[in-house]
Amino acid sequence: KHEKYKNFPMVPRVIFGNGSFDQLGEILLPKRRHSDAPFIFLVDDVFEGKELVGRIPLLFNDQIVFISSEEEPKTNQVDILVAKIKNDFEELPSGIIGIGGGTILDLAKAVSILLTNRGSSSEYQGWDLVHQPSIYHVGIPTISGTGAEVSRTTVLLGPTKKLGINSDYTTFDQVVLDPDLTQGVCKEQWFYTGMDCFIHCVESLDGTFLNAFSQSYGEKAFELCKEVYLNGLPASEAREKLMMASWHGGMSIAYSQVGVAHAMSYGLSYLLGIRHGIGNCMVFQHLKEFYPEGVELFYEMLEKHQIELPKNICANLTDDDFDTMIEVALKLEPLWENALGKNWRTIATPEKLRSIYQKI
Ligand code: NAD
Ligand code: ZN
Repeated sequence: KHEKYKNFPMVPRVIFGNGSFDQLGEILLPKRRHSDAPFIFLVDDVFEGKELVGRIPLLFNDQIVFISSEEEPKTNQVDILVAKIKNDFEELPSGIIGIGGGTILDLAKAVSILLTNRGSSSEYQGWDLVHQPSIYHVGIPTISGTGAEVSRTTVLLGPTKKLGINSDYTTFDQVVLDPDLTQGVCKEQWFYTGMDCFIHCVESLDGTFLNAFSQSYGEKAFELCKEVYLNGLPASEAREKLMMASWHGGMSIAYSQVGVAHAMSYGLSYLLGIRHGIGNCMVFQHLKEFYPEGVELFYEMLEKHQIELPKNICANLTDDDFDTMIEVALKLEPLWENALGKNWRTIATPEKLRSIYQKI
């Protein structure tokens, strides 16, 4: 007798290509319910005053809200945005469009869910707690790597935990993949967010949850990451390939899970506000015992792009601080089970985690 399989939603529509952003107007038109139901564009504030903003197809009372991605999304930030939208408009919006990196994409997903589900977003952090369909939402990544454009989760920092809203209603209804939008990303951020994808692949491919579905996407994303970060491709080709790597990496973890680096990176993020991409890298460099081949490649990539990771981040932390990070990390049970199998608790002991955090 086999296990009960999960029936996952996928992004039903995607457009890919340089300049495809300019088709956004025609994509949105049939989704506009009427002139009083606006589209709300949540846009990373790095684009404020940039030419991209002039290309957003505004009509009627549509609104652009610029959002800083300085800090990763928080549950109360989602709640405030939802309250503001409900207050500003008599009608529910026709849709929410997120334009930015993982931070903005996750906010767009969460806002679209909370516009139709009562209460605070913190009540929905977990697995399958959302029961009302969200409103139409579109994801337009401007940096590649997180896979947030395809995933069925939106990761939020809440009052008591950092955890995703994992639900069938989280997934975008439409994604616009325009590799040209990623042109302005600086080298360090390009590296950290791209390594998020690379680490997704390693954790998925080395995990115990692996199956042919995840493997087929994971292997493709892994190859694309190696090409982008080790082969020296022309810039435009590298942008296209990294965008597709991110997509495949996200698809790979849909039917499996991430692992040790992600679990421990959540601890760093919760206690110290360290952002996802760089936090993953800070942990992953010390995970040779779990992911020998992946970590070796990672060092080659660091070297090739001359990236220096910060040091001594945990040097002055107290015992309580370590305990907090360890607690947050160990709460992510599916990640550990994927990484280490059913008996993960015998390997991932608090002492083991502490010894890794101490190296960071
Ligand atoms: P980000 O969205 O925080 O953006 C990183 C930086 O790049 C920001 O300073 C941003 O302003 C800048 N930036 C983005 N696009 C740019 C452009 N075109 N030009 C210049 N600068 C640009 O970073 P990220 O790594 O994409 O996302 C991290 C977030 O994604 C975290 O909150 C993490 O929890 C989340 N995440 C979600 C999933 C998911 O499945 N939902 C998966 C992985 C990570
Ligand atoms: Zn990740």
